[in-house]
Amino acid sequence: MIDHKSPAELERMRRAGRIVAGTIERVVAVVSPGVSTKDLDDVAEAYIREQGAMPSFLGYRGFPASICASINQEVVHGIPSRERVLTEGDLLSLDFGAIWEGYHGDSAVTVFVGGDAPSTEAEKLVRITEEALEAGIAAVRPGGRLTDISHAIEQVVRGAGFELVREWGGHGIGRNLHEDPHILNYGAPGRGPEMRPGLVVAIEPMVIMGNWPTEVLADGWTVVTADGSLAAHFEHTVAVTEGGREILTARG
Ligand code: MG
Ligand code: MG
Repeated sequence: MIDHKSPAELERMRRAGRIVAGTIERVVAVVSPGVSTKDLDDVAEAYIREQGAMPSFLGYRGFPASICASINQEVVHGIPSRERVLTEGDLLSLDFGAIWEGYHGDSAVTVFVGGDAPSTEAEKLVRITEEALEAGIAAVRPGGRLTDISHAIEQVVRGAGFELVREWGGHGIGRNLHEDPHILNYGAPGRGPEMRPGLVVAIEPMVIMGNWPTEVLADGWTVVTADGSLAAHFEHTVAVTEGGREILTARG
């Protein structure tokens, strides 16, 4: 069942979203060769708690950290570790969540460690994934249907010759980190529930350079491409408004 948020609930989600956006800015600023993914987790957790919020991911179904940090062929849900030290040119996907007064925000970015992509194709992968997110967000409007988002994402990704992860997708968000509806990142437009003001969704294309499918490592969390190819991930939490949409996790 889709839970549409009241204006008072949206105000809390705005605050959660701003905290997530601030966390991303602080963590991305310290990404560099020699830094471990646990160092990034520490920066994120400290900032989220300073804001009076709680990390959404810590303890979620037993997840042991505050962020997900996924390197190169890791798609999503990588567990931060002191042993995972970043090196120049790594493709690093970072996923963040925070709870403010019972409401969640959820957002992800992909960056290159040291700033430069190791190849033009890797640069294109990350750029296209972000463009797919932007296209998905642009499809959010009252009166539209949920799979308008799915279709917009798929058009951008397939148009660029990349593959989409099928096993994971976007989701409703609010009192729960993940709630109805599930949002596929592919498919025909004009299907699924009608989007109405108060619907809040986390839109999150996961794009791979090689071939679908993905696998989960023995740690029970880390999703990797089966063929070892690079993967990228971007995400924003977006509310349907009377006039269109509002990105709750927008960064300054
Ligand atoms: Mg996320
Ligand atoms: Mg999400």
